[in-house]
Amino acid sequence: MEIPHVNSLSSEALAAARSVAEKLGNHGVRGWIVGGAVRDLAVGRSPKDIDMASAATPDQIEAWFEVSHLVGRAFGTVVIRAGALDIQLTTFREERGYSDQRRPDEVEFGTSLEEDARRRDFTCNAMYLDPLTDELFDPEGGLQDLEAGLLRCVGDPAERFREDGLRLLRLARLAARFGLEVEPRTLEAALQNARALEGVSAERVLAELVGMLAMPDAAGAVGLLIDLELLPLALPGWSLGTEGSRVRTQVLGELAGSGDVDVDVDVDLRLAALFGPDLSSSPDFEDQLSILAKLKPSKKTLQRVTSIVQVLVRTEALLKFSKDQSASRAERIRLLREPVWPEAQALGRAWCGAIGSSTANWDRLVEARSRFSPEELWPEPLLRAKDMLAAGAPAGPRIGEWIAELEDAQLNLEVVDPEAAHEWLSQKLND
Ligand code: ATP
Ligand code: MG
Repeated sequence: MEIPHVNSLSSEALAAARSVAEKLGNHGVRGWIVGGAVRDLAVGRSPKDIDMASAATPDQIEAWFEVSHLVGRAFGTVVIRAGALDIQLTTFREERGYSDQRRPDEVEFGTSLEEDARRRDFTCNAMYLDPLTDELFDPEGGLQDLEAGLLRCVGDPAERFREDGLRLLRLARLAARFGLEVEPRTLEAALQNARALEGVSAERVLAELVGMLAMPDAAGAVGLLIDLELLPLALPGWSLGTEGSRVRTQVLGELAGSGDVDVDVDVDLRLAALFGPDLSSSPDFEDQLSILAKLKPSKKTLQRVTSIVQVLVRTEALLKFSKDQSASRAERIRLLREPVWPEAQALGRAWCGAIGSSTANWDRLVEARSRFSPEELWPEPLLRAKDMLAAGAPAGPRIGEWIAELEDAQLNLEVVDPEAAHEWLSQKLND
């Protein structure tokens, strides 16, 4: 642990923070770097973005700065452009009442740092650093907690979780991210107030979950969600018991350790590990995937996760029921040429690792994939629709079916050139 110093910031970030603080200073207001950035400096990491806070009201900020956008005027958060950076500048405030568990009923702009610190979630997120003087203000003892390896709520933890259930997920994410232990009172309160998560919107849950899955130790974060008994509350419809859920963390762990250079172990793949089928029991996946759909991810994400899962399940079926040796060449090629095949195989192998079964079948398919040339995977069609029409085939849906059938025959090396394809077609026409 280190005492955070502004000099550890990138020169870009430091210049940006200083320019904001200087401008505020010209109006007699002191500006502070706050929250994640100060915490990251304390643990020796480079902050990915800079949040600042001051007593200046949104009106004043708008008058003094070129404001990119108002995130929430009522909540006193404004984004301003400083050099190459966007800085979120918030107004010191107090918050009261969270009847909808999402937004405070009342926000009062205050002038004191102490007040502002009390509405923040964890002590390590309530540290303030002056970018001009390098002075640290740490009213909740965040640095001391970090030194002791503890993640602790600011104030009464039970009340803080009841105010905003999202803090439960932030707790798991931050504990996993920094290898912190949850301080006992905070832990007790989290366990007793897990239901607070029920009131949190799908959108915010998804954002936190994605944040967890984007971490190198995604498995650790999900493991903490399980320890804290939060998964079924965060994800309506989640029906895997503790054991079934734990296997998922093992799959995530295997994925992270796979070292597969061809596969980008990204959030979509990790979502597929979490919301895909349980390969140790049943290949059903519709129910699990529908839980992800309820979180309203982007269409692109949902489609990609679904594709990965479908290819995984098709491959499993091929391996289980027909043994890949007896599956047709066309069947195998259609799988192996899927754009998400690399991800599906990485996930399939991760499952093998997690449940202790052999990856030999998957290895064979990967081998096979590397032996196929692009032309073998995607051969030029022997006949296209227009060729079939010219040969007297009636227009209609049959044409599409025949094209697929002919491709199967081609991939199975049963029909190898256009001449043979015409023969194949005239047989169809005579049937
Ligand atoms: P990250 O590095 O993931 O951005 P962060 O702690 O900076 O972590 P932000 O969402 O950027 O997270 O929030 C900035 C700061 O705002 C936090 O450090 C914390 O002080 C405060 N904060 C954010 N969310 C909450 C919340 N739900 N309740 C109370 N304070 C919060
Ligand atoms: Mg942040």
